[in-house]
Amino acid sequence: MNILWFKKDLRTTNHEPLSQAIKNGPFIPIYIFEPELFQQHDYSYRHFVFLKDCLDDLQHQLNAVSLKLIINVGNVMSIFNDIHSNTPIQTIFSHEETGNNWTYRRDIAIKKWCKTHSINWSEYQQFGVIRKLKNRDGWSKHWQTFINKTPINNLDKIVPNPISLNSIPLDQLEQYVTKINSLDIQKGGSKQAITLLKSFIENRGKNYHKEMSSPVTAFNSCSRLSAHLTHGSIDLRTIYQTLSKQKTYIKSLSKDNQGSWNGALAAILGRLRWHCHFIQKFEDEPTIEYKNLHPGYDVLDKPLNLELFEAWKAGKTGFPMVDACMRALAKTGWLNFRMRAMVTSFACHHLWLPWQAVSHYLANCFTDYEPGIHYSQIQMQAGTTGINTIRIYNPVKQLLDHDPNCSFVKHWIPELESIEPALIHVIHESNLFAPHYPKPIINEKESRTIARNTLFKIRKKPLFKDLSSNIVQKHGSRKKRKP
Ligand SMILES: Cc1cc2nc3c(=O)[nH]c(=O)nc-3n(C[C@H](O)[C@H](O)[C@H](O)COP(=O)(O)OP(=O)(O)OC[C@H]3O[C@@H](n4cnc5c(N)ncnc54)[C@H](O)[C@@H]3O)c2cc1C
Repeated sequence: MNILWFKKDLRTTNHEPLSQAIKNGPFIPIYIFEPELFQQHDYSYRHFVFLKDCLDDLQHQLNAVSLKLIINVGNVMSIFNDIHSNTPIQTIFSHEETGNNWTYRRDIAIKKWCKTHSINWSEYQQFGVIRKLKNRDGWSKHWQTFINKTPINNLDKIVPNPISLNSIPLDQLEQYVTKINSLDIQKGGSKQAITLLKSFIENRGKNYHKEMSSPVTAFNSCSRLSAHLTHGSIDLRTIYQTLSKQKTYIKSLSKDNQGSWNGALAAILGRLRWHCHFIQKFEDEPTIEYKNLHPGYDVLDKPLNLELFEAWKAGKTGFPMVDACMRALAKTGWLNFRMRAMVTSFACHHLWLPWQAVSHYLANCFTDYEPGIHYSQIQMQAGTTGINTIRIYNPVKQLLDHDPNCSFVKHWIPELESIEPALIHVIHESNLFAPHYPKPIINEKESRTIARNTLFKIRKKPLFKDLSSNIVQKHGSRKKRKP
């Protein structure tokens, strides 16, 4: 018997393991829900809600081609072992996964188990990420080849499997996770992903490059495809090729009819490459989940100040832009890139919190939590890569630049609803008019200066540059920068 193991690839279109399984005769499609994964501090009910939608949608997609998705709960190895002792497994088909330390260790154990039992485990590339890459030379070329490959679709050739296994109804999974009430998480599933892509191309994305940075516009103007990419309810290649085709079409129009689409589509296409560029870093250096990429920063003394940490998590720091973002994130499971960078920077620099605690909380909140992008980005924003410019965001300036009328802030902070925007912009200096809104928990300028000086001092130490050069060699983009 062959198994198609669905992991973070919950779709039937452009799915290479599915296509290969079809070519190799009857198979059982299986998804294994792992309660232990949901007990790790980077996973939460938010991911579960989205996952459940995706599984529901996947069941329908498979039913349409006469296949039944088998859902099991527990430890993957024990489940495979049980199946194998009843009906020997010949091959397991799946995608490669660049997961957190927990899934990484699980996959190593599965590999060993397959070897011991003479089972083939055929893994296929899910993204433009290369396993066992020596360095970044030529990576871009590999990525282009991956992304431009013709999508596969051979669902019409499915041979139904006479063997069936017990399956658990989706509703029963809820008991294995800790519920969070009143969330407003976006809906999962392939149908939703395609609707989002369509609405982005038809209208939402026209000012993407100009509107992606402000939280006032970004919730609508960004593609919002990240959680779908993370759960695989749509694949990167389909998104990239659809957007590229649209860009070619826009270019064929007269300048007057192009509007701002050219810039918008170029910007998002570039970011889809970043998706894999960042995951590749994590694939090559999985320790960045818990260790500084540049060991020069190991000397930093950052004890976890629980009072500051809790204020940041609850959106009660006294800095309106930070607080609105943290409250929006807790409710919706999403923030745009600039605001993610700002809340991370504020926590790691102004509040001087260890990035490990910050990253776990944010991962827990981001419905699109993708370990490869997440840990690489966290370290970039925390200033611990040794190869990126240290950027400390001033939350007062971010409010002025990206929410001058304070509409986003007022929406998420009811304590400030009736306050004039001009007063909100200076509320960190003196708060005499919003008694229910917290006083600032730190002095912005002072904390920023201390953080900057401490980080730059480390950069001047002997050997720092040598170690940075090694990191660039292994992880740095080879893209030539404009002079
Ligand atoms: C601290 C921090 C943590 C982050 N953690 C995650 C994470 O766990 N998962 C995640 O998908 N993104 C993460 N990002 C990157 C980025 O913020 C999100 O990809 C983006 O906001 C998702 O919304 P969207 O799909 O509407 O993106 P769009 O702006 O519409 O972009 C389309 C796609 O391009 C990719 N992309 C966009 N920006 C980036 C970027 N800066 N780096 C890498 N890929 C990018 C994503 O796949 C995204 O879905 C993080 C950023 C920061 C600063």
